[in-house]
Amino acid sequence: MRHGPKDLGFYFHRTLNARIMGNTALAIHGGAGTIAKELMTPLREKDHRAALELALQRGHAVLTKGGPALDAVETAVRALEDSPLFNAGKGSVFNADGQHEMDASLMNGSDLRAGAVAGVQNVKNPIGLARRVMDQSDHVFLSGNGAFEFAHKQKIELEDDEYFFDAFRYEQWKEVVGTDEVRLDHAGSSMEAKEKKFGTVGAVALDRAGHLAAATSTGGMTNKKWQRIGDSPIIGAGTYANDMTCAVSCTGHGESFIRAVAAFDVHAMMLYKGAALIEAVRVVIHEKLPPLDGDGGLIAIDRHGNIVMDFNCSGMYRGQVGPDGEFRTAIFR
Ligand code: ASP
Repeated sequence: MRHGPKDLGFYFHRTLNARIMGNTALAIHGGAGTIAKELMTPLREKDHRAALELALQRGHAVLTKGGPALDAVETAVRALEDSPLFNAGKGSVFNADGQHEMDASLMNGSDLRAGAVAGVQNVKNPIGLARRVMDQSDHVFLSGNGAFEFAHKQKIELEDDEYFFDAFRYEQWKEVVGTDEVRLDHAGSSMEAKEKKFGTVGAVALDRAGHLAAATSTGGMTNKKWQRIGDSPIIGAGTYANDMTCAVSCTGHGESFIRAVAAFDVHAMMLYKGAALIEAVRVVIHEKLPPLDGDGGLIAIDRHGNIVMDFNCSGMYRGQVGPDGEFRTAIFR
């Protein structure tokens, strides 16, 4: 069955169904990659799962109170940004200058409003700044100094460089500083061969009113230079939400996800081909990204609250809570 963009009958019918059901669902990720099982100590696993669960709880609380999906994804991503375990907000990797440049975006599925920031420094929660861009400016995407000026004007919470300092990330950076090497958020030289992961965070949600939203936040890649920007803040590449189909947040090799227009492609296959969410995600992750060296994964949710979390590498930090209210977290397949 085909659904054209002007097929409003389809749109309103689905919206009404979701309203009657009132189901809510939320999924989150903390990055995908080659996560070596033998390096995942019980303590490390426990810490990661606890951080994921906290983010799920915060986002879920918004949804159970009848709050919008947009607030739920922002809230969940904030919690992940506040954890040093993931490459976003507090845990962001170092760039070539030994600084932290962060990217974030979010999108509202009911009206296609979106907000994004790239290359921002000292902003405690870049996802909150992306939300302000959406709500308080006439723009969708701000970057660098301009975004910082806007943050200042909006009285966004800022933090000193020390807040973002993490000894583990610093060691990662010291191995490559002064070289042209741009690295993923991997586990350090001794573990390098075994573990290469992307610590970007993201969330997708369906609220009681049947609306969808997606959010993604990242520190990008270790030792990045020239103000490199990945897929995470790019609407359609790392983040996309549309009530007609789905909400998507990606993690992986940003350059490949940009070229694949990965998040939008999941939506497009559902809209134009009538593909089910699970099939659209499978095609993007396992057929379209691999020829582009697109290691990584994505989380997605459709209008019925179906959640798909798929990846083409060994693991993805992830969690979900569906209509049954049960919290589930996972790392490997
Ligand atoms: N996609 C992010 C980027 O390329 C990295 C990640 O997912 O961790 O900036």
